[in-house]
Amino acid sequence: MKNITLNNGLEMPILGYGVYQISPEECEKNVSEAISAGYRSIDTAQAYGNEEGVGTAIKKSGIPRSEFFVTTKIWISNAGFEQAKKSIEQSLQKLQTNYIDLLLIHQPFGDYYGTYSAMEEAYKEGKAKAIGVSNFYPDRFIDLAEHVSVKPAVNQVETHVFNQQIKSQELMDKYGTKVMSWGPFAEGKNNFFSNETLQNIGKKYGKSVAQVALRFLIQRDIIVIPKTVTKERMIENINVFDFELSRQDMDSIFKLDIAESLFFSHYDADFVKMILSYKI
Ligand code: NAP
Repeated sequence: MKNITLNNGLEMPILGYGVYQISPEECEKNVSEAISAGYRSIDTAQAYGNEEGVGTAIKKSGIPRSEFFVTTKIWISNAGFEQAKKSIEQSLQKLQTNYIDLLLIHQPFGDYYGTYSAMEEAYKEGKAKAIGVSNFYPDRFIDLAEHVSVKPAVNQVETHVFNQQIKSQELMDKYGTKVMSWGPFAEGKNNFFSNETLQNIGKKYGKSVAQVALRFLIQRDIIVIPKTVTKERMIENINVFDFELSRQDMDSIFKLDIAESLFFSHYDADFVKMILSYKI
């Protein structure tokens, strides 16, 4: 596994396992399988309702906690200094650990400055080894990054071959903030897995579309956390460190960028209203 160094010197696996849309009941089993397949970095969130399953799988693995890298995210309904502080304690309890490796603000809404202050406090106390944000697009990202003392270590944003976040990455670079991709396969949208460019490149290396798509991001220094509940795919998705895409193949994939979300816009009032109404 290749590691990436965050802006505070912390090392993080460049590839991990994401558990969005995995039920609390299934989560422990899936994370245990991912651990057996070699994953050591797990990405969860308060809003996924499955932090407990992640913690239990890690505990039951018998592998020292120090070998894992656990990311979780504070949801909007826990925003604000006091509420966020409480929720960090709840996450620690559910994850059955005394520190979170990477703690993120899930969405740029609510009193996220208060949330960030609580995270900075947790960072200073050693309860979080690194802190950062998610879904902070350039305007909100720069506003926050300019006003806080602990610069975000990562910004987890929708990033895949069709929405490559080229400009955002250039901006984040100025703060040493790493791009962490969510939806590295765009959840299969836009006929992702039958894309001809990716298929043809894959054939040259004896690799699948999924492997080529992950490799493209990794070669751009982007952290990936693909999700699958299928054991064979877990193995496939982690098996991306034995080949390297040529400059020419990287360039062909750069051309697939439409620089637009395939999901939703954080600037759409109805979408914002919808996620604000989701309480945990
Ligand atoms: P994704 O990883 O882009 O796609 C997951 C989908 O791809 C699933 O349907 C999975 O199917 C399928 N798949 C996985 N590997 C495959 C393979 N090798 N071949 C064919 N199909 C494959 O989507 P995601 O779960 O949205 O994103 C990944 C992680 O990012 C999440 O789990 C979560 O941790 C994080 N995330 C964060 C945010 C945020 O707001 N911060 C938003 C979304 C996601 P099966 O599971 O059926 O195998």
